[in-house]
Amino acid sequence: MTRIAVVGAAGRMGTMLCAAFNDAEDTTVTAKIDPSDPTCWASLEEVAADDIDVVVDFSTAEVARASVAWAAAHDRGVVVGTTGFTSDELDQWETTYANAHVVVAANFALGAVLAQRFAAEAAPYFDRVEIIEYHHDRKVDAPSGTALETARVIREARRAAGRAAVSEPTTAETVKGSRGADSGDNVRVHAVRMPGMTAHQDIIFGGPGEGLTLRHDAYDRTSFAAGVLLAVRRVRERPGVTRGLAPLL
Ligand code: NAD
Repeated sequence: MTRIAVVGAAGRMGTMLCAAFNDAEDTTVTAKIDPSDPTCWASLEEVAADDIDVVVDFSTAEVARASVAWAAAHDRGVVVGTTGFTSDELDQWETTYANAHVVVAANFALGAVLAQRFAAEAAPYFDRVEIIEYHHDRKVDAPSGTALETARVIREARRAAGRAAVSEPTTAETVKGSRGADSGDNVRVHAVRMPGMTAHQDIIFGGPGEGLTLRHDAYDRTSFAAGVLLAVRRVRERPGVTRGLAPLL
């Protein structure tokens, strides 16, 4: 049985994950940490490390930094879903935590990660590709981190295959922004914000006479549970810092 400390336990993700860990046969929550809820511990520092195998953090970036340091100091695995770290900071973690056991991923939805893998496979074979991401209307940033990561994976796969940047047929944008954002190499990203939606993405490829669309739908927060459980089960086998879920699939 893997014993888990959930940091951010009273939050939207933390509440869902505590239920998922207690439902799973091989995991159990032994410590809930969240200062906003008097039934939780206020800090990991108050908890006995002997009662914990893996720390799971879905809180804030500042708190997650402390969770990773605590887990490394006590030789415990740590799974970080909290977002807000720059790529440079994660590069630094790779050095600082080379001997720890850390998984950090900005998207734990298995389907979203698989869609990126399939997109990388398709990318060299099509002339054109565009990404449309759809989110609820409370999301304040655009485009989504997942769309940017998908675009990066596509660019890298095209470059590795010796493909040039995607060509741009539009010479006159009558209304600025009509062609979406160029994420690099002219892989265009379009963001839709709509009430009733959660998190969805189309990756549209096109070549002479054919198209291929990869679609992922996250209908609610439970879409992240399977990926987090996978990371919890595997984190202690993996020395150092594992970035993203893809290496675990
Ligand atoms: P939320 O605001 O509902 O929950 C965050 C919780 O952290 C709150 O309950 C808050 O009280 C708690 N918290 C604040 N300070 C704390 C501390 N010192 N110690 C412990 N807990 C503390 O937010 P959310 O929607 O659950 O999202 C949390 C994080 O997870 C965000 O960074 C979000 O972007 C990220 N997220 C990641 C994924 C993914 O797949 N990686 C999916 C969804 C959300």
